[in-house]
Amino acid sequence: MASDVVTVCRFEDDVLTAVRAGCWPPRTDDDLQAHVAGCPICAEVAEVGSLLADEWEAARIEGALPHASLVWWRAELRAREDAVRDATWPVRSAHVVAVGCVVALLAALGWVGADWLLEQRAWLATFVSALPVSPAELRGASPLLVGAVGLAVACSLVIAPVALYLALARE
Ligand SMILES: [Zn+2]
Repeated sequence: MASDVVTVCRFEDDVLTAVRAGCWPPRTDDDLQAHVAGCPICAEVAEVGSLLADEWEAARIEGALPHASLVWWRAELRAREDAVRDATWPVRSAHVVAVGCVVALLAALGWVGADWLLEQRAWLATFVSALPVSPAELRGASPLLVGAVGLAVACSLVIAPVALYLALARE
């Protein structure tokens, strides 16, 4: 049992071309418009094609690309950043490892040094006696003098390692 329904029209491509070109319906010839008015296949192609063309135009406007030079500049910038990151990661990794080693070394020195310092009381007493101001003198001194001596000792304990680090870091 053969079907009598026609599913293809020879003007279908013409209608589709006009819709794709954005000419449908105002800038198409009258014969094609008259055919579409009487042909259900071409009418459906024109209707669906117009909807798809509108959607395509809206998507094109919404997803407008930036200028090519801007895209190129961003790509070059990103490539340069990636190259710098790839080139410097061994150095950054070495810094992290070095900082970890320094912290571990300082902790170990603090642990061992505290015990060693307690064992060296005689040496500590000699060191204290070599100071220009003895602790016995500080007991009777004014709070201003004690504060000044304490500040000087604290500054030397803080500034000396920083100065040593800065001097060695420039080399
Ligand atoms: Zn037709």
